[in-house]
Amino acid sequence: MALIVQKYGGTSMGDVDRIRRVAVRVVSAVEQGHRVAVVVSAMAGETDALAALAQEAGGEQPNPREYDVLLSTGEQKTIALLAMAIQRLGCPARSFTGAQIGMRTDAAHTRARIQSIATQRILDTLDQGTVAVIAGFQGIDDEGNLTTLGRGGSDTSAVAVAAALQADVCEIHTDVRGVYTADPNLVPGARKLDRISYEEMLEMASLGAKVLQIRSVKFAMHYDVPIHVRSTFETSEGTWVTREEDVMEGLVVSGVTYNRNEGKIRVRGLKDQPGVSARLFTPISDAGIVVDMILQNVGHDGTTDITFTVPKADWKRALQLAEQAGREIGATGVVGDDKIAKVSIVGLGMKDHAGVASKMFQVLADNSVNIQMISTSEIKISVVIDEKYLELAVRALHEAFVENGAHAPKPE
Ligand code: ASP
Ligand code: MG
Repeated sequence: MALIVQKYGGTSMGDVDRIRRVAVRVVSAVEQGHRVAVVVSAMAGETDALAALAQEAGGEQPNPREYDVLLSTGEQKTIALLAMAIQRLGCPARSFTGAQIGMRTDAAHTRARIQSIATQRILDTLDQGTVAVIAGFQGIDDEGNLTTLGRGGSDTSAVAVAAALQADVCEIHTDVRGVYTADPNLVPGARKLDRISYEEMLEMASLGAKVLQIRSVKFAMHYDVPIHVRSTFETSEGTWVTREEDVMEGLVVSGVTYNRNEGKIRVRGLKDQPGVSARLFTPISDAGIVVDMILQNVGHDGTTDITFTVPKADWKRALQLAEQAGREIGATGVVGDDKIAKVSIVGLGMKDHAGVASKMFQVLADNSVNIQMISTSEIKISVVIDEKYLELAVRALHEAFVENGAHAPKPE
């Protein structure tokens, strides 16, 4: 008998029919003898609809406190509906809002961070053989204000509840069968992974894979909560996200990811002297813009170029700021390009496997894809390329590294 936290996303909770199907799944876990806490999202599209309403009433930047009061209603609806549907199957269930289970967060409305969870009420409920149905995405700050955790936040709620309850597993029930080696819509040969490490999942989520909210993976890694990502609509095993030691897949590269959400800015002819980068990037960071990749060319003749990427939504603003800073520090030109894509390969096996980068570059060269920027970490290599080669690059890299890929030596 295990303590299981199950999370169901917006698609799984999409309408009452689906909610009734979710109820069947929950009850079947209870019938297997498990204690079950369920964390749910709002119905698909509901949070977007509420956000649109908020803007209608409150303008482009509605009051954040009231925004959270409104957005958290989506999950309040689904906990009640699911609890009813479970009860209808003859199984006791009880719904709880974030506040009712003491989901304490800081006061940063619309992107609050969880600080603690008072587990007693949930544990009492489970001990009575009752399913606890908990609203994801929401919490309460020290002053009793409702807060929300940022879009996609119910993954993080679920992992946090699992960590607090020291659950055996946090099952994320979603509309895909698990974590794939690449986006199956783009790569026909993509396959589901049985297991993946927290570190790899974190990189994949940061680089564009959309299965799990990044913060939920960090949380799980920190508290060592095994995550099982699986389909709501099938009973087969999905993908386990666990500690590195428990991952035995053995491929050097576990996944190829991409995103087209960034734009590039190149500042030319900067003086190659101390302080120039600081003066270029300070106004950008002061504007709250997060810079991703940065590349500085080797200086020659006392000047140098700096190229960097920012989220596409901030690209225009960053370009203006770079132009302004560029004038002040004597740059000879600033050029922007938002027709780029970032393609990455991720894998723990890279740590002790030579030649991964050179092979990646060779595969791209063989396909006549020019590399504009490169960045690496211990377990990933990312390149920026022209957006129009995105599919070609992802498919070619997947074929080379996953379909025909080398296996890493098994740990002794
Ligand atoms: N309903 C929220 C959203 O759409 C939270 C979630 O689904 O994870 O962002
Ligand atoms: Mg979601």
